[in-house]
Amino acid sequence: MVRVPAWSGPRPRAERQVRVCEGGVVNVRMWELSTVEVAERIAAGCTTAVVVAGSTEQHGPHLPTFTDSYQAHAIGERFAERIGALLAAPIPVGCADHHLAFPGTISLPEPVLIDIVEAYAASLFLGGFTRVVVFSTHGGNFGPLERGTDRLRERLESPGRRVVVLSDLNAYVAGYTAALTQAGLPISALPHAEAAETSIILAVHPELVKMELAEPGFTGEVPLEKLVSDGLAAVTPNGVLGDPRGATAEIGEECLANVVDALEDMLRAAE
Ligand SMILES: [Zn+2]
Repeated sequence: MVRVPAWSGPRPRAERQVRVCEGGVVNVRMWELSTVEVAERIAAGCTTAVVVAGSTEQHGPHLPTFTDSYQAHAIGERFAERIGALLAAPIPVGCADHHLAFPGTISLPEPVLIDIVEAYAASLFLGGFTRVVVFSTHGGNFGPLERGTDRLRERLESPGRRVVVLSDLNAYVAGYTAALTQAGLPISALPHAEAAETSIILAVHPELVKMELAEPGFTGEVPLEKLVSDGLAAVTPNGVLGDPRGATAEIGEECLANVVDALEDMLRAAE
């Protein structure tokens, strides 16, 4: 487990450099490359693979159920570009029992998610990658990944093979908070289908956002543990935590860049 005690905040634009592998990786989406291209990238020194656990779950009346997985694609791609890695096909479902009262939600048991992550990493090592960096874009996966880190490392690590799990939810939320504060919007202690997530989907899939249906949900404080144990329906009738109004694609890009900064800081702390 890697923790960054205090995130230093968004980085100046000039420092948000894209580090490409030798030979210049333009496309980091591994599933769009041929096996020959993947082998060439690895041979050129692109030996880190990024694995992101998303989720398919309710995101209020205005966002698609694939919201967290679209974020997995968007953040995973930007992060892989930033660190000079390749992105494995993001895991499209996660641990979302606390959303099951809302239709469209699909949830995995915790051991199944960890098994999937282990299978991903084992496959990637066999293919020649030497480091696998794992993170999540869905709050409900952070606990399972944190609890599963020791097992993943014990089973997968050997000289020349490293697994790094970045599971600090606070640093992640700080990236959203910084972007909303900069835009003068209210923040949510635990963002879900609020302005940050709505802004991100406006940035990456605007055709899937129904802003006319965007309404505030529960805007008070609630501990993550309570949400996970009681379910969101007990707290917020429309499934939203926070307020989605005021979301824009520009704020979404800022959120994405901030989260990539936070992930890069976490990775540096782990090196
Ligand atoms: Zn979400």
